[in-house]
Amino acid sequence: MKFKKLGIMPAILKAIKEEQYVEPTEIQDQAIPLVLTGRDVLGCAQTGTGKTAAFAIPTLQRIVEMDQLQDHHTKKHKGIRSLILTPTRELAIQIKDSFHAYGRHVHLKTGVIFGGVPQGPQEKMIKEGLDVLVATPGRLNDLMNQGIIKLDQVKILILDEADRMLDMGFIHDVKRIVAKVPAERQTLLFSATMPKEISALADAMLKHPAKVSV
Ligand code: AMP
Repeated sequence: MKFKKLGIMPAILKAIKEEQYVEPTEIQDQAIPLVLTGRDVLGCAQTGTGKTAAFAIPTLQRIVEMDQLQDHHTKKHKGIRSLILTPTRELAIQIKDSFHAYGRHVHLKTGVIFGGVPQGPQEKMIKEGLDVLVATPGRLNDLMNQGIIKLDQVKILILDEADRMLDMGFIHDVKRIVAKVPAERQTLLFSATMPKEISALADAMLKHPAKVSV
């Protein structure tokens, strides 16, 4: 199986097989091995290229690997280890569904928050504990300002559709959020286009990124 050659662990390969994916897409082929090494990645790819799996699969695996290195005796909840920012509710839900699908044989909890709906249920979900959080920037910023969400355990930060977040006026929220994530982390930034504002954001947020483009 071509996915196996990318270095993906058996529990995730099993889920990929259940999704009936036969071959990795080009962006998956390029990005998955890079993300698994822990490098920052700057990806130029549109929706429909399979970019969600390109970041979700290796992110799940990295969290599982980090947990295996930690003390098995601690049952304490480890907090949000990966944060994915995306511009719209629809994308946020799709990304959460992808993490659920590829992660169905690993025991990690992914949740999603977005604006335009009551905050209560999202607040409850966060208090119960999450390993991965998918969020739109406005609602996340609100919850952070109220002290409901802590991002001090984030190890992998992902910006999805960065150009659309910029177009939708989320840039200030994004910057405020990124400032609260530990500096020592892995960062992945995906964008369909690379205008100079996005290049500048990438320069400020990524360390020696590997570049992938499809
Ligand atoms: P995305 O570009 O992430 O929005 O993904 C587009 C669609 O491609 C989604 O419906 C995925 O389930 C599907 N997909 C992703 N990777 C593969 C693959 N390797 N083989 C077949 N379908 C895929």
